[in-house]
This record gives sequence, C-alpha cells and structure tokens, in this order.
Amino acid sequence: MMLFDPNKPFFMGNLHTHTSNSDGRMAPEDVLDLYRAKGYDFIALTDHWKRTSGDAYLRDDMLVIPGIELDYTLPAQVIHLVGVGVDECILEAQRNGGPQDGINRIRRAGGRAILAHPAWSLNTVETIGCLKGLTATEIYNSVSGAPWNGDRADSTDVLDVAAAHGCLINTVAADDSHFYTGEECSSYIMLQTEELTQESVLSALDQGAYYATRGPRFNQIEVTEDEIRVSCGPVSQIIFHSDLFYVKGRTVAGEGITEAVYPIQKSRSESFVRIILVDEQGRRAWSNPIRVG
Ligand SMILES: [Zn+2]
Ligand SMILES: [Zn+2]
Repeated sequence: MMLFDPNKPFFMGNLHTHTSNSDGRMAPEDVLDLYRAKGYDFIALTDHWKRTSGDAYLRDDMLVIPGIELDYTLPAQVIHLVGVGVDECILEAQRNGGPQDGINRIRRAGGRAILAHPAWSLNTVETIGCLKGLTATEIYNSVSGAPWNGDRADSTDVLDVAAAHGCLINTVAADDSHFYTGEECSSYIMLQTEELTQESVLSALDQGAYYATRGPRFNQIEVTEDEIRVSCGPVSQIIFHSDLFYVKGRTVAGEGITEAVYPIQKSRSESFVRIILVDEQGRRAWSNPIRVG
C-alpha cells in the first residue's frame, strides 16, 4: 500500500493561526499576505473563541478556511482545541461546556477538531484517549518552543505513549502564530488533494492524506506485510518510532539519505510505526502513525 497518491499534488498549509482579531500581533490581511508570499496554499485563521474569517474563500490562489480555537482549564492541564472549517454555529460554544462539548460543537458546525500542543498543555495519555472525535493532534506547535513560550513545542513523546496504549491519532504541525517574530511560516502540513476547496481539504484530513513537517519532504511511504519503505528528500536521519523499545536499525543516519527500509517486527507484535525525518539543520517531518500487525 502506498500512503501517498503519485498522481495527486501536495498542498502546503497551516491550520493554526492567530490575528489581531484575538491576541495575534498582526492584522488578518497582513497575515494572509505573509503566508501567501511564503508559498502557502491554504491557511486556517483560528482566533480564540471567535470565527472571524467568514466562509472559505480563495485569496490570491490561497484558500482561507474559517477556524476557531477553544480552550478549557482542567486540574494540572489545559485542553486547547482548534476547529477547522467551522460555520457560524460554533459561536454558540461555551467554556463551561467542557472539551468534549467543544469537539462535538466543532463537528456539528461542519468542522474538524484538532487537539493543539498536547505537550505544552501537559496533557496526559488518559486525557488524550478520552477525547472522542478528534481528527488530528498537533505533533509540533511552533510557538510552544523557545523563545516564545518555554520549550514544549514537540509532542512526539506523549503521542508515542498514547499510541503505545492504543490511541493512534493523526498528526499535524502548525505555527500557532501570535508574535510574528520567527514562529510564523515554519511548521505546516503537506496535504494531497485534487482541488483546493474547504471540502476537499477536510476530506483529505479525514483520510490522513498528509504529513507534518518543518522542512523535510516525504516522497512516498510504502507499507507491505513485512516492511515499510520510505523515500524522501535528502535528510540526515530517518527514524522509525513504535511501541517497541530496542529495535535494531530503527535509526538510519548519514549524509543526504533519501530512502530507508524498516522491517515490521511482526514476531514481537509491534502495533504502530511513526516515521520521523531529520534534516541537516535539525528540522523534522513526521508521518501519521501507521497501524501494523
Ligand atoms: Zn492554544
Ligand atoms: Zn493558538
């Protein structure tokens, strides 16, 4: 099985963006100009508790998707939910409804719910596993890194633990841009779809037809009974995470590597594999977790 369709183009998009309509430091029109100039094909404006961008529209060939971010405070953790592709009904969402109510409302408003920055939020595996109806979670959130907001941008660890406990969620990378001092235009997804409409982007999100990245490119991931074959742009490491501890050869390292093969550990009942690319500058890309065995 090929995870990517060789006949479909990849589109570059950021699904978590703030503007001066909430606590972002840049006006919406300027944010859109900035992302378009960096080559983005789609963007979701996701201000806190506000849906401010109207219905989806094309602006200079970039698709602008209406979104929102809802936040909830629990003991020892917070839950932030990004809603992408939501209609106006979402404005009825209430803080006191709780996070599951938030996900349900995002879905009733025609959107998709993404759990934002689980590592930054100190989310537990139990919390992540209890949320029903998530389309994805962020595996990397730019603004949750130094110098903007501590150093918990990368949620791979907690998502690996969740996956090892049977909770496999697809993963996006997003900027969560607020300050526009370097966190913007750095973490995104590459998504395969035939056309650039809200409907087709949401459908590709449902199908997991994308990968998350800060630079490195996947070309193809082929999954057979016995192995996973990766081809990609030149990187210095290709890493295969899973629910197993020691696995021989799970990191392939070298200069300008463009392919690697991972033998699925069938005899050890391996349950999932997540592929991570690391380029020369230390930037990463993440496949969605692949169920095996
Ligand atoms: Zn947030
Ligand atoms: Zn945010």
